[in-house]
Amino acid sequence: MSDLKRAYNFNPGPGVLPLEVLQEAQAELLNFKGTGMSVMEISHRSKEFEAVIQTAEADLRELLGIPSNYKVMFLQGGATLQFAMLPMNLRAAGASADYIVTGSWSKTAVKEAKKLGAVHLAANTEADGFNCIPASLDLDPKAAYLHFTSNETIHGVEYFSEPTPPAGVPLVCDTSSDFISRPIDVSKYAMLYAGAQKNAGPSGVTIVIIRDDMLERVPENLPVMLDYKTLAASGSLHNTPPSFAIYMVGLVFKWAKKLGGLAAVEKNNRAKANLVYGAIDESGGFYRGHAKPEARSLMNVPFRLPSEELEDTFAKDAKKENLIGLKGHRSVGGMRASIYNAMDLEGTQELVKFMKDFQKKNG
Ligand SMILES: *Cc1c(COP(=O)(O)O)cnc(C)c1O
Repeated sequence: MSDLKRAYNFNPGPGVLPLEVLQEAQAELLNFKGTGMSVMEISHRSKEFEAVIQTAEADLRELLGIPSNYKVMFLQGGATLQFAMLPMNLRAAGASADYIVTGSWSKTAVKEAKKLGAVHLAANTEADGFNCIPASLDLDPKAAYLHFTSNETIHGVEYFSEPTPPAGVPLVCDTSSDFISRPIDVSKYAMLYAGAQKNAGPSGVTIVIIRDDMLERVPENLPVMLDYKTLAASGSLHNTPPSFAIYMVGLVFKWAKKLGGLAAVEKNNRAKANLVYGAIDESGGFYRGHAKPEARSLMNVPFRLPSEELEDTFAKDAKKENLIGLKGHRSVGGMRASIYNAMDLEGTQELVKFMKDFQKKNG
C-alpha cells in the first residue's frame, strides 16, 4: 500500500473493493481493449461490451455453480427495487407470499410487498431485537414464495443453511450483503438477488438469478423495466445497462476465481470473522456482540462498548489509525465492522489490534 494511503475500509456499503480490481480498472480506463475509449464510452451493443457482460455472467455461473435452467440478470434500481419487482412478477393477483423477518432489510422488503398484495409473516424476530435466526416457522403451504434475507447487514445476523419451504413453494433470497462470500447450493432457490455494492462491486447494478419456470408466472403488461421476462429475454440489454458497474463486478468475479473460488473466499472470511469475534469474546464484556453466537454474520459485526461516550471515542480514535467506517447503524447503535470479501486479513488484524489497545487504555 505504502504511498497509496488506502484506508482500512469497514464501510457497510458501498464497501471495500479489491485493490487489484481498482488498479486493473485504472490501467484500462482510458483505452479499453484497444478501442481508444473507456468502457463507459463504448456502445453497450459493441462486441467489446458483449464480451464484458458475457464473461461476467460466465464467471458468476462458475463461481456459484448456477445450473443452466437459471437466468442471470444485471438490473438497476438496487435491491430495494427487487422488494417491489419480486411480488409484482411472482405473486399472482390475490395470492399471498411468506416472509421471514430477521432484521431491518427483511422488514423493509415486507413493507414494500404489502403495498401490492398479501403478505404472511412466517417468523419475526423483532421482539428479540433481531439477534437470531428463528427457531421455527409458520409456513403457508399455498404461499406464492418464501422470502428470507440471508445476511442482515445492519443487525449482523446470517443464515448458514437455508430455511425449508413447503413442497412446491419457491424459495427467494435477498443475498445483497453475503453474495459470493461462500459456496451455496443455487438449486435450492427459485430466485436470488443482490445489490452489488456490499460485496461484489460498485453501486448501480443488482444481480438477479432466477429459475426459468418462475418466468412463466410473470403477468402480462407490466411496465417493461419491471418485467423479469422481458429483461431476461434481452440478456439484460433491453435498454442501456449500467455498463461500468457490470464491468466492475466482472473484475471482482475474476478476482474471486483467482483466489480459488468461493471455498477459498469462505475460508478467508471465516478467518477474519474469527479474529473479530475472538476480540469481542476475549474482552470480558467490554465489547458486546449484537447477534447470538450461532447466528453471527461473517460479513457484518455489530458490537457495543460500555457507553455511548466510549463508542464515539472509539470511532474517532479508529479514524486516526486509518480504520474507517466503523460506526454502527443508528437503529442498533454502537459499532459495526463490515468485513466483506475484499477486506484482507491484514486490515482485520489492524482492527483487532486497535480494539485490544483501545480496551487497555479505556477498560
Ligand atoms: C443494502 C441492502 C439492501 C438495499 O440495497 P440497495 O441496493 O441500496 O437498494 C437490501 N438488502 C440488504 C440485505 C442490504 O444489505
